Amino acid sequence: MYEGLRKELYHAHIMLEKYNLVEYTSGNVSVKINEHILIKPSGIPYDELTPNDFVAVNMKGDIVEGNKRPSVDTATHLYIYRHRADIGCVIHTHSPYASSFAILGESLPVYSTAQADVFGIEIPVTKYAAVGTEAIGEAALAVMNKAGAVLLNHHGVLVVGKDISETLRKAIFLEEVAKIAYFARTMGKPQALNEDEIFRLYEFHHKHYGQTK
Ligand SMILES: [Zn+2]
Repeated sequence: MYEGLRKELYHAHIMLEKYNLVEYTSGNVSVKINEHILIKPSGIPYDELTPNDFVAVNMKGDIVEGNKRPSVDTATHLYIYRHRADIGCVIHTHSPYASSFAILGESLPVYSTAQADVFGIEIPVTKYAAVGTEAIGEAALAVMNKAGAVLLNHHGVLVVGKDISETLRKAIFLEEVAKIAYFARTMGKPQALNEDEIFRLYEFHHKHYGQTK
């Protein structure tokens, strides 16, 4: 079941690797469809992954299709879907620049116009929660703002969106803005943009960027 979506989900995983957001088996993407989610199987390296490997589970976490164990992060993803009906895709990575802020327990201020454009607000950091539990989902939703991206304390990154393409774009750009912030901090003390300018850039970007459909 869900053949088309499996291909799209597979492509998203390949893009995570292409943009250096994941290593070997780490990270995962899930997508919601009806009352099921499709999610990466646990511990399968990206170069061995195929569209048929994704595991379909229901909202309680029971496997409805698939012969592999789902990601250890499945409970985290499910918690988010159960509590936010508007979310259709969840991406988790340990992308190194953004995760560096997470390890420090620091949010990522809006230093760059790129962050203002795409996210329009600082990327918050969660309190610490154990891997593989609903507690990470709960900690993420507790600080989630309109950016739809959070830094998981001592861990990595969690990004949400309405669909795969929107969420993937945010995961890629989050790493880019974190990388820029990292370099700026190694060179000096960057200041956050002021709030009016952040708001103006965000509004302009969301009205005018890209191609009209
Ligand atoms: Zn992780």
